Amino acid sequence: MHFEHLFSAWVVAVHWFSAHAVTPVLTRLHAGHELCSHADDITRLLLIGLAQVCVIALVFRPLEARFPFEHWPDRRATRIDRAYTLIKVLGILPLFTFAVMEPLGHWLGGDAFGGPDDAAGLVSLPQLFPALAHHPVLLFWAYYALFDLVQYGTHRLQHAIPWWWGLHSLHHSQRQLSCWSNDRDHYLDDLLEALILAAAGMVFGTSPTEYALLVLAGALLENFSHANVRLRFGPVLDKLVVEPHYHRLHHMLVDPDRPNLHNCNFSFAFPLWDIVFGTALYGQAARPTGVGDPMVDRDNTLGIVGQQREALRRFWGAIRCRAGWRPGDVAFDARHRPVPAQELDLHRLEAGAGLEAARRVPVRENAA
Ligand SMILES: [Zn+2]
Ligand SMILES: [Zn+2]
Repeated sequence: MHFEHLFSAWVVAVHWFSAHAVTPVLTRLHAGHELCSHADDITRLLLIGLAQVCVIALVFRPLEARFPFEHWPDRRATRIDRAYTLIKVLGILPLFTFAVMEPLGHWLGGDAFGGPDDAAGLVSLPQLFPALAHHPVLLFWAYYALFDLVQYGTHRLQHAIPWWWGLHSLHHSQRQLSCWSNDRDHYLDDLLEALILAAAGMVFGTSPTEYALLVLAGALLENFSHANVRLRFGPVLDKLVVEPHYHRLHHMLVDPDRPNLHNCNFSFAFPLWDIVFGTALYGQAARPTGVGDPMVDRDNTLGIVGQQREALRRFWGAIRCRAGWRPGDVAFDARHRPVPAQELDLHRLEAGAGLEAARRVPVRENAA
């Protein structure tokens, strides 16, 4: 069987890289026993990450060159997003999963990572729907849809809660949205998301194998949905799977004449959740991407460390005041405090007037 050959080649590759590359590096870094005992698991994630980077570089990137949606004079702004992707899939993800998430899972008594493949959660789909137990492919898609629903809910909160938007706005500040943009995130934002997804994994009782497949399939689809390509899926398929145009609308700059238009298309894989909860937007021409708030747009002048620091300041500025907890669109003032969008003249903000000049009610410093 060809599939068996492929599988044994994969097992041999994992053992070889684990013994000759990952274990020596972990030993040299004086990583603890806990991490070293997971050398094979880390290698597996590393090789999956490498495969993901290859698909982006060898498939998605040439598609962007052949069928670009936006024409750019150069791709300079996309380089930082490529660095974000390489750092995450080849560094943070494999190490973080087994240094933090796996011990945390054991501590909480669950086994969402690295446990036996028959892990049982609080809500087990095969127990709820016994017919699913005999259809592994259907079961996989059912879990995928459930995880997508959890991500949809999380994503709504990332936009609605100003302190969370302080972090998530870094993902949206990119004006050259490309196949590398998916991993341009604040690391605290990633941590919050990972904790929520891991908790969902425990509740649903997904096995580690299913979980790894879910992560890879989801990541590739999300990489493609950010790509700068004008390929469309067609009027039926674009209701079933998120296509690049669909997610591009989610990244659009605020339209001052339709200030709520950009609050759309939050789903990552299945538009179903947007359709069910009334946030799907179809038939709209794409607008330029990015964030009109000058404090967030400033991310584009910074490197990775500067972006992480600035987004953390927005988060901290918002978490300390009441406006930071009140749901709704905000912009950030020079002291990283959130200003509700209703208090701003969006036309003036778009024209580059700056936040203070765009305020409808100018605030007096030291006002009681
Ligand atoms: Zn978003
Ligand atoms: Zn995005």
